[in-house]
Amino acid sequence: MDYQGILNIIEKQLEYTKTKGNVANYIPELAKVNPNHLGMFLKCTNGDEFYFGDYQVNFSIQSISKVYTLALAKEIIGDDLWKRVGVEPSGNPFNSLTQLESENGIPRNPFINAGSIVIADCLLSTLENPKADLLRFVRKIADDNQIEYDNKVAFSEKKHGYRNVALINYMKSLDNIDNDPEDVLDFYYDQCSLSMNCKQLAKSFILFANEGKLLNNQDRVFNTQSVKRINAIMQTCGFYDEAGEFSYRVGLPGKSGVGGGIVALHPKHYSVAVWSPPLNKKGNSELGMKALEELTSLTGLSIF
Ligand code: GLU
Repeated sequence: MDYQGILNIIEKQLEYTKTKGNVANYIPELAKVNPNHLGMFLKCTNGDEFYFGDYQVNFSIQSISKVYTLALAKEIIGDDLWKRVGVEPSGNPFNSLTQLESENGIPRNPFINAGSIVIADCLLSTLENPKADLLRFVRKIADDNQIEYDNKVAFSEKKHGYRNVALINYMKSLDNIDNDPEDVLDFYYDQCSLSMNCKQLAKSFILFANEGKLLNNQDRVFNTQSVKRINAIMQTCGFYDEAGEFSYRVGLPGKSGVGGGIVALHPKHYSVAVWSPPLNKKGNSELGMKALEELTSLTGLSIF
């Protein structure tokens, strides 16, 4: 497959595509990003790499981090995790309060804010040093020790995170949060602030395409059943209330974040990350979705 040729075509197409989207501004620090950034990086399970544009420029990965924390929590807690969070698509915005009320404080899935906050609570209860342990884990699976948190972004979100405060207090009142809400949110804001580029993201997700094994030494990090489950949740819940649309247009499991990044993977073939900050109305990178739709159209390959 001529992946580089296909990425070159995608780059040309996107250069001429005008976006109607806007950069996320509800976290003031994110509003400062240059909307014209565009980068893509594809990593194959045989080690080959293909890329264009700003693939080495760091950005705030935001909700993409929810996959890392879910994978860690699933590994530590096992199936008991599903007593506190579901696996159904929400069909609601990522920060919705209404559904939580009708479902007694059990979030629909681990990729909406409420669900990821529950996961953060679980990790706070089980990891010795959650912030350092999470960073060590991400660096290990990305095979890159340069990855860091962005304290400015975390602080900016903490200052304006009123809705997350509402979500966590509501869940605490229904006994679905064990730790102090402020400590849980601090950890949650740290995880969302991870600053990474497309290359690091694609490298960190290759194990989900490689049956749970690292690429550099084939060490197993997750068993195949965990990988199956996490990929399934990405497929059904990875794109806010646009997961159906992403599945329909792209046909790969993946996860987006309000920083404009999207990571997706084709099991046994590749992982791919794309970054373009302007978001569509549902909060997904407008050009990012288009890039991935072109990728699966031009290669003629998707999971379906
Ligand atoms: N930290 C963001 C929030 O809680 C994550 C949003 C996202 O990327 O979906 O609002």
